[in-house]
Amino acid sequence: MQHILEIIDLHAGIADKEILKGVSLTVKSGEIHAFMGPNGSGKSTLAYTLMGHPKYKLISGDIKIDGTSIKDLPPNQRALMGLFLGFQYPLEIPGVSLSNFLRISYNAVRKDEPMLVRDFRKLLEDKFEVVGMERSFATRYLNEGFSGGEKKKAEVVQLSVLRPKFAVLDETDSGLDIDALKLVADGINSVKSSEIGILLITHYQRILRYVKPQFVHVLVKGKIEVSGGPELANKLEEQGYSWIQGADDTSDEEERVTAPGDRAPAV
Ligand code: ADP
Ligand code: MG
Repeated sequence: MQHILEIIDLHAGIADKEILKGVSLTVKSGEIHAFMGPNGSGKSTLAYTLMGHPKYKLISGDIKIDGTSIKDLPPNQRALMGLFLGFQYPLEIPGVSLSNFLRISYNAVRKDEPMLVRDFRKLLEDKFEVVGMERSFATRYLNEGFSGGEKKKAEVVQLSVLRPKFAVLDETDSGLDIDALKLVADGINSVKSSEIGILLITHYQRILRYVKPQFVHVLVKGKIEVSGGPELANKLEEQGYSWIQGADDTSDEEERVTAPGDRAPAV
């Protein structure tokens, strides 16, 4: 079934500061949209505002799933509507094992497809394998002591277990070495289908070699300045962000998409 996520002239921010200044974007099932931009342009603000993080305030505009506004709903109800957020900086939750966390979230959002404990365990094993995580992670506390890469892989496991209608992945590629990046990409590609729409937020072009978007958008200072097809990502790889109006003062050598050797800041 075809679903539609509409972001309509969204203005949002933190406290009194407006960070998103009119973002409009439509994502349909089966589409992958890369959402790029220099550091500080507001990518995470969009991710948090979509999911309903209480710190982020929607000033005006709307967010709709299949025509129904979700802007006044708490995050858990947005999740029930089919929205998922993979965090840029996943939190550590001591006391909650990864497998319990996944099972409880699965039971919460997929009430329609109850699973026997045994079958769920098998499902987890399969999902862990895709991203190259050992089974022993299941009994560890959520993200506690996980490396940056392991945290990102755990986000992808969550994504593939929950199978949302729309996934917002906030820099799921950042801080990963090339092997981890490929595994994370495998995980994302394994959920890719006509059933899911993906908003792939990334600072670097490199994940787009493995997860192919049909649409690319560049956010600069809270506004989408350029949108295009996959060729836009190639242009960004060659030329960085500085050619885009207003972007030059926010991208420096270290932060360029063209950073040599796929250098990425550690998470
Ligand atoms: P990106 O994800 O594109 O790097 P963010 O959405 O994280 O950008 O940040 C956009 C802007 O909002 C930045 O100028 C950042 O400093 C500011 N910002 C983000 N979070 C906070 C916060 N908790 N308090 C104040 N300013 C914030
Ligand atoms: Mg961010």
